Amino acid sequence: MIAPQDALERLRAGNARFVQGAPNPSPQSRLDALGPQRPFAAVLGCSDSRCPVEAIFDQGFGELFVVRVAGNVADATQVGSLEFAVRALGVRLILVLGHQNCGAVQAALQRPADLPSALGSLVDRIEPAIDGLRPDAGAEPSDILLANAVAANARHTANALHAGSPLIDHEVAGGRVAIASAVYAFDTGIVTFLDEDV
Ligand SMILES: [Zn+2]
Repeated sequence: MIAPQDALERLRAGNARFVQGAPNPSPQSRLDALGPQRPFAAVLGCSDSRCPVEAIFDQGFGELFVVRVAGNVADATQVGSLEFAVRALGVRLILVLGHQNCGAVQAALQRPADLPSALGSLVDRIEPAIDGLRPDAGAEPSDILLANAVAANARHTANALHAGSPLIDHEVAGGRVAIASAVYAFDTGIVTFLDEDV
């Protein structure tokens, strides 16, 4: 399995191809990936329909282990999926990927009164990340405030993976696994990396 730094470079190169509109001419196909899966990285991204992770990083079948949930939060099932990627598949890089104008983060900032209970508990997961970033009561968050909250939420989830998984924390402490966070911008297609302990 490739080293965390090499996996990160592969993601950066793939996003550069995506931004330039020059995709890999021979991506790994469904048939290329029929054997045991060997993804080179795991990505915890948002469910937003405008954030297809493989497309953003110009990757084919079998290359990325992707977990998607609204607000890219780290609940037990997401952490368990990432533990599987690390333990069973040998993945050495986990990327938490937030995105521009995330509706889940916006909901956490505005906290509408009528959220159904399960959605409310998802938004609760985001709240500790955005402490101190709230707009005035009833006000729409500004673009800058929302962007700051999106970045804070991606960082918070990356940190939560340490606390939520002794396995992942142990692998990171031993230098075998790295966790990075990043934000994807719809308007440019660019993924900006925030923090890398690679
Ligand atoms: Zn989102």
